[in-house]
Formats: sequence, C-alpha cells, structure tokens
Amino acid sequence: MRERVAQIRHEALTALSQAVDLTALDAVRVAVLGKKGSLTGLLRAMQDVPPEERPAIGALVNEAKAQIEAALDENKARIIGEDRARSAATERVDISLPGRKPPRGSLHPLTETLDEIVSIFERMGFVWEDGPEVETDWHNFGALNFPPDHPARDAQDTFFLENGLLMRTHTSPVQVRVMQRHQPPVRMLAPGWTYRNDAIDATHYPMFSQVEGLLVDKHVTLGDLKGVLKYFVREFYGPETKIRMRPSFFPFTEPSAELDISCFVCHGSGELDHAVCPLCKGTGWKELLGSGMVDPAVFTAVGYDPEEVTGWAFGIGIERVALFRYKVDDIRLFFEGDLRFLRQF
Ligand SMILES: [Zn+2]
Repeated sequence: MRERVAQIRHEALTALSQAVDLTALDAVRVAVLGKKGSLTGLLRAMQDVPPEERPAIGALVNEAKAQIEAALDENKARIIGEDRARSAATERVDISLPGRKPPRGSLHPLTETLDEIVSIFERMGFVWEDGPEVETDWHNFGALNFPPDHPARDAQDTFFLENGLLMRTHTSPVQVRVMQRHQPPVRMLAPGWTYRNDAIDATHYPMFSQVEGLLVDKHVTLGDLKGVLKYFVREFYGPETKIRMRPSFFPFTEPSAELDISCFVCHGSGELDHAVCPLCKGTGWKELLGSGMVDPAVFTAVGYDPEEVTGWAFGIGIERVALFRYKVDDIRLFFEGDLRFLRQF
C-alpha cells in the first residue's frame, strides 16, 4: 500500500511538471483526485488495511494529496506565465508607430456645386428655406397657376402617391409655403430634391436636385432679376462670362425667360481647336436656367396683393451645372455611389 501511494504521487508530480497547457493539467487532476481517480480509489480501499495501520496509511495518502494539489497550483501559474510571455513576444505593440488615419471622405460633387451656388446668393441676402418632399397637389401645382389639364399633372411626369399626395416635381412649393407664412418682402432660396417619372438614361434620372430663388417686394423689376443673375454667373463661371435672356413659358411666371451664358469651353466663339465646340455645338451659348416675373395668380393664391408687390423667381438644375462643371457625361454616375468616381473630386 505504501509503495502504491508513492508510485501514484511520483507519476502525478511528473505528469504535472510536464504539462504544457491547462487542459493537460486538468486531465491529471481528474485521473488522480477525481471521483474515479487513482488516489481516491486508494482511500476507498482503506477497509482492506489492518486497523492498526490505517492511521499511518491515511496520513500518507493525505500528504500525497496535499502535495499533488500544491503542484497543480504551481504548474497552473507556470503555464499561465509561459502563455503571457509568449504572447508578449509575438504580439508586441510598438507604441512609437504613427496611428492609422481612418479615410476622411469628401463632399459629393452635387453637394459641392449646390453649396457654391447657395453661398453666392447668400452673399446677396437670400435665405435658405426647406420644405417637404411629399407635397399636396395644391402646393405643387394649384397655387403655382398650373391649369388642371397641364401635362405636368399627368402620371407620366409625376409620382402620385396612393393617399392623394405626390412627390414634388420642383422646389417651388417651398416658395408657396414661405409666402403663406411671411408677408413681403421675401428673399429666399429653395434648394432640394425633386422627383419626376423619367426613364433613366445619361441625362435623365427620376430624382434630381435644384435650387430656386424668389424675391418679392415693392417695385421689383425684370432688370433686378437680370442684374442678380449676371452677378451670380460671373461669380460662378468667371468675370468674362456673358449672359442673354430668351423668351420662354412657365405657368408660374409671366413674362418668362431662359438664361443662356456664353460657352465656358470655347468662350463664346463656337469653335474649339478649329472644330465645332462639343459643349455648345457651335452656337457659343449654353442654356443655364429658367426664370421670370412671378405671375399675379401665384400672389393671389398665397394671399399677397398683386397690385402691391411684384417679384421674380429662377430655378437651376444642380446636376446639369455639375455635369458641365466636372465634365461628366452621364448623370447616373452621381447616384451610383461608386468610390472610383467619387474619389476624383
Ligand atoms: Zn462652346
């Protein structure tokens, strides 16, 4: 019996000192001290030991058990220490290395274009106003003098919603809402998203952005409109840029005018490298925006007295300006979120 105890103790201590991880350590503990362990088995066999020898053998077994438990703790500390030393050697952190910068991103070309247009008009005292993108028929069409049978009211051009509302087709309803809230004078910008039921191609997209401007006061004239737009164009495209106004038609302005600017590629000559200028197709002019004097019917709709005040409005398509500005030939590129495209700006 004494030899058996000595043997178990020797084998256990050897196995513990050679264990390389905590799993191996625990396997030894179970094999020796567990319910069916070798030392536990010896304690059960005490009944076979003559009574006079039992105290001595019992003390021996308990001594061996205490030694093995102490060795378990020691080797556990040894293995944990070795693990730490190993990971410290392989996963060392060099605190002198410069940090990695997360990519910063940049403004979208449409945002940059819009911001620059808005900042020029803000210098002239125009204030940015916001409004809902889901609108009533009255705010989008009725108040703006669209007759009931106007083609823009056709489902071909407008996204009508099931509840009778619609996706605004221009930012003009913001002008209507501001005029309903404020008495004249008004000097405002309405930048934002607009929606039309267009098939997608290189120059059309069902979602696009525009910025509209509105000025209402006493004695406002077409000359003021021309002066403001001339200032804008020269700030945005350069001081040598020329403008011209062509008669046009919009339901909400009378008279209405398209504003052309001298081509900024051929500088109005219509020629580039002895060939026809690709941007203006040889005309020397490029159409930029629509504008006009606010129709008296619009003033009546919002509760202004058309005998008291006059005003004008204009609308610029942001995508159109950005296409020419960045020499991009496909409007879809602005909406695809392709980083290879966006990183070029
Ligand atoms: Zn040109």
